[in-house]
Amino acid sequence: MNSITTQIFTDDTADLKGAAGVLSLGGLVAFPTETVYGLGVDARNSDAVARLYQAKGRPSFNPLIVHVASLEIAETLVEFDDTARALAQAFWPGALTLVLPLRPDAGISPLVTAGLETLAVRVPDHPVANGLMVAFDGPIAAPSANPSGQVSATKCAHVQSQLSGRIDGIVDGGDCGVGLESTIVATLPVPTLLRAGGLPAEALEGALGERLALAGDSAAPSSPGQLASHYAPKGTVRLNAVDVEDGETLLGFGAVDAAVNLSPSGDLVEAAATLFDALHQLNALGADRIAVSPIPDHGLGRAINDRLRRAAAPRSGAAT
Ligand code: AMP
Ligand code: MG
Repeated sequence: MNSITTQIFTDDTADLKGAAGVLSLGGLVAFPTETVYGLGVDARNSDAVARLYQAKGRPSFNPLIVHVASLEIAETLVEFDDTARALAQAFWPGALTLVLPLRPDAGISPLVTAGLETLAVRVPDHPVANGLMVAFDGPIAAPSANPSGQVSATKCAHVQSQLSGRIDGIVDGGDCGVGLESTIVATLPVPTLLRAGGLPAEALEGALGERLALAGDSAAPSSPGQLASHYAPKGTVRLNAVDVEDGETLLGFGAVDAAVNLSPSGDLVEAAATLFDALHQLNALGADRIAVSPIPDHGLGRAINDRLRRAAAPRSGAAT
């Protein structure tokens, strides 16, 4: 990947406006939260989210947490049940992420949810994060600001040493206080701890008046990996197809004659941004046997191939 200039922003109002402007143009801006530095992008812009995966070198499309400035704004993105609302009122702003049903009109890129019908949302408790969100006035998807597999960043200098040249900007807001990622809870069908984090589970259980189920319990929601198969296309999938057999529909990549093409020019960022929409299109076409053009297995191609391999894997009875 070509190196880009990484602009450093201070936390004064004019600079936060500048950083918000970069986000509006689809740029990648790291910013401090009370947990760790997040790497933010406009959660509605699939190209920007694809570039975020590229900058992090993530080998798979894990769903991302969306950061918003208030509970009221979160309510426009996801559906709150009473338990979720009570937790939000008790712990937001703070190190609590809630996984809730995505509203169909939320406008969030399917690359953010990795195609799930739920969305992880949080209101961070940090004046700089908050100032950026107010200036940007939109949902910011932000995983931790570190290359995939490396240590999370709790100082601007950590982000600089790990991501300079790969992202458009960093808002320098000093050190992060908590230094641990957010605690992730789903409330449906039962309140469930999906990831332990900066907010102790005991505090949540105290507010709920009941124990949290653990991911993996029978009543608990499936892990994102399992849920992701929910999003597999209806048809069977054959990867690395250099030709198309009778009765197959081609999901193309590059200069091929295909029913749906991830990127006619062979651009992996474009292909990643298009992936989930392309799977929808194949369903709409009624494709029951899908052949997929070879996709280079480097950079974003690894995450695309990971997703398609899972789509190609034999379905368990549970994934419908
Ligand atoms: P990170 O952005 O690196 O802090 O990781 C985000 C975490 O949130 C991952 O562990 C995801 O699996 C989890 N997550 C995000 N969205 C969802 C979702 N819709 N359902 C369950 N877990 C989620
Ligand atoms: Mg991380």
